[in-house]
Amino acid sequence: MSEQKKQVVVIGNGMAGYRFCEKLLEYDAHHQYSMTVLGDDPLPAYDRVALSTLFGSKKERELIFSEKRWYDYYKIDLKLGTRVVSIDRKAKTVKSSTGEDVPYDKLVIATGSRPFVPTIGNSDKGGVFVYRTPQDVAGIRARAEKVKHAVVIGGGLLGLEAAEACREMDLHTTIVEHESVLMFRQLDKIGGYLLDQKIEKLGIHLKLGTSVQSVEGENAAERVILNGGEELEAGLVIIAAGITPNDELGAEADLDMGQFGGIAVNENVLTSDPDIYAVGECASFNDELFGLVAPCYAMAEAAAAHLGKINRVLEKWTPASKLKLLDLHVSSIGETHLSEAEAVHFIDQDIHAGVYKKLLISKDWKKLLGAILIGENSEFERLRKAIAKETLFPANPRDWLAPIGEPLNIEVDLEDDDLVCYCNYVTKGDICRAIDDEKLKNASQVMASTYAASSCGGCLQNVLAVTKQYIEHGI
Ligand SMILES: Cc1cc2nc3c(=O)[nH]c(=O)nc-3n(C[C@H](O)[C@H](O)[C@H](O)COP(=O)(O)OP(=O)(O)OC[C@H]3O[C@@H](n4cnc5c(N)ncnc54)[C@H](O)[C@@H]3O)c2cc1C
Repeated sequence: MSEQKKQVVVIGNGMAGYRFCEKLLEYDAHHQYSMTVLGDDPLPAYDRVALSTLFGSKKERELIFSEKRWYDYYKIDLKLGTRVVSIDRKAKTVKSSTGEDVPYDKLVIATGSRPFVPTIGNSDKGGVFVYRTPQDVAGIRARAEKVKHAVVIGGGLLGLEAAEACREMDLHTTIVEHESVLMFRQLDKIGGYLLDQKIEKLGIHLKLGTSVQSVEGENAAERVILNGGEELEAGLVIIAAGITPNDELGAEADLDMGQFGGIAVNENVLTSDPDIYAVGECASFNDELFGLVAPCYAMAEAAAAHLGKINRVLEKWTPASKLKLLDLHVSSIGETHLSEAEAVHFIDQDIHAGVYKKLLISKDWKKLLGAILIGENSEFERLRKAIAKETLFPANPRDWLAPIGEPLNIEVDLEDDDLVCYCNYVTKGDICRAIDDEKLKNASQVMASTYAASSCGGCLQNVLAVTKQYIEHGI
């Protein structure tokens, strides 16, 4: 008689939960585990990063990674529309909202996060939305048909994306940001100022250094009142002011928590309970929380690797972000707010052309600590890797920067472990392996197999170049 499989229960069928399932199927060479996934969403896991495409012609179902039949095929018991309400660590069961107790041998918490809503008067009024799910997009679209003015609260990556969607829907759009520049967390004053100009040129209005005090209107939002008393017309209000980890299940089960929230995990993504992992935005590693998909995928892969007894641990994460807006090319990597007392600042710029490249170098000139790239960012992966691997900094900083107006030739610049698609955490090696293993013939097949370029699409040219080079020249 065959040995009983161990039960792995996954709470949350989002981006990290899904990646975990895929990777466990790959790493569980001895077929030791069977999986049950409980997700409170009505849809199977979908590409949240590509949510803005729902403002265009894309339909919800097109964002789904795999339909229910994929789960059936791999004998994954997927229970959709099922919320987990508690974890009983002693009994090793989770309780669902329907009252069912589901037993586990190993548990993976992948509950993600929810939008943070600051204290704003009447933020529960009709016409006020957050931006996290297809349901939010449907609500925003419906409201946009009835009104002319939108206000987006928050000038970070998500706020900019929401504002661009409003502008595309022909709404008079204003971003209200309490810092003095957009993307304050990622950029410095000059970089932020350049971005502000680029965004205003697109026709999006900015109110910086102020915040929304309240939303006003008869039945639904009609205007917002700013701190200084100024009023802005706003039939539609979108709050994009950050995220809060969905860590309550862990806290209530008495798992250790990170200093700033999130369920604390070690380099194997294990929580303080050796039978429970936490992956994605609900987890905290080294007291850090993550709001981008690449580190969430890295956690999902590390958890699956640990169960599959594969040596792959989570390493210190180098923060890196790219703004996926038209062709603005705005990126930041590592520590970008170090003062001149803390780091050498090297700047290459052509402000008239809208190009600004700043490197923050350690005082002993040995390591690159941070970088800001505006207007041109072909060096993104080279610099991200140099910071992550603490590569010795060259005598001439220009050795690492492409001359302004002359982007790097991506084909000759990438090594096997370089990320080609940052959103989906796909390296050049992953692409080459997929081409060899699955006998892929073109970039579309590579994209379908690896998900490269399937989210924000910002790396499409790189994926095409890497695929072409490998298929034609084998390098
Ligand atoms: C509009 C938008 C654009 C983005 N763009 C980018 C981008 O360009 N680049 C980038 O890197 N990142 C981007 N992100 C962030 C990225 O989507 C997240 O980092 C990623 O989705 C995190 O994955 P996760 O699995 O941790 O969380 P989620 O994808 O949110 O998945 C968590 C899942 O758990 C479910 N769940 C929660 N609690 C329970 C419970 N108790 N029981 C059962 N199920 C539960 C939730 O319903 C959800 O389905 C974007 C996010 C948004 C909203």
